[in-house]
Amino acid sequence: MTPSHLATGPFNDGASEILKSAGLDYTRLAWAKQVHGNTVARVGERGGPFRDGADVLVTDTRGVGLAIFTADCLAITLIDDTAGALSVSHAGWRGTVRDVPGTAVAALRALGARPERLRVTIAPSIGPCCYEVDEPVTRELSATFPDLWERWATPVRPGHVTLDLWRANEDLLARAGVDPARIENARLCTACHRDVLYSYRKGDRGRLVTVAALP
Ligand SMILES: [Zn+2]
Repeated sequence: MTPSHLATGPFNDGASEILKSAGLDYTRLAWAKQVHGNTVARVGERGGPFRDGADVLVTDTRGVGLAIFTADCLAITLIDDTAGALSVSHAGWRGTVRDVPGTAVAALRALGARPERLRVTIAPSIGPCCYEVDEPVTRELSATFPDLWERWATPVRPGHVTLDLWRANEDLLARAGVDPARIENARLCTACHRDVLYSYRKGDRGRLVTVAALP
């Protein structure tokens, strides 16, 4: 399951059975070429790939599955049951700099969602235990979020910090009006649990997929 298979569909054999067991229709799945940006793709009735880059998928169509592929990055799912609006988005450090969480909330507002009603899940992704970054990353984060970024970074050696992308994205969701009590994050680190997950940083080539649909 790698993004390079976008043309034919990135899913393993057997995926359609697994999706069916969750009540999802493989032919109505939508996914995008993920480019570490904050472009929004609005998904209607038709599934299949978006060939242009997009890292935030939104829909108000019931039964359409939105799929995001990750290995260390965050897959963030937001849903407003009352409005019938759903988003699944992709955020690594670049997506965090581009405020993917705030972008997803804004895109859902445009579909009638209210931030305080959103329920959020964050899929397994790299934890602060395993995510050391250096100057190019800290420079962009500190320039974009001067008031917040120090909450997310712990110095480990000169020029290097460990970065807590979970906390960063939770903070950005809260800044966009999401109730922190409605954010579910298992805080399961991909790099610590390679027996069941995939970690890009640790050299795994596989990808996790997060799929969500409005019931
Ligand atoms: Zn870890």
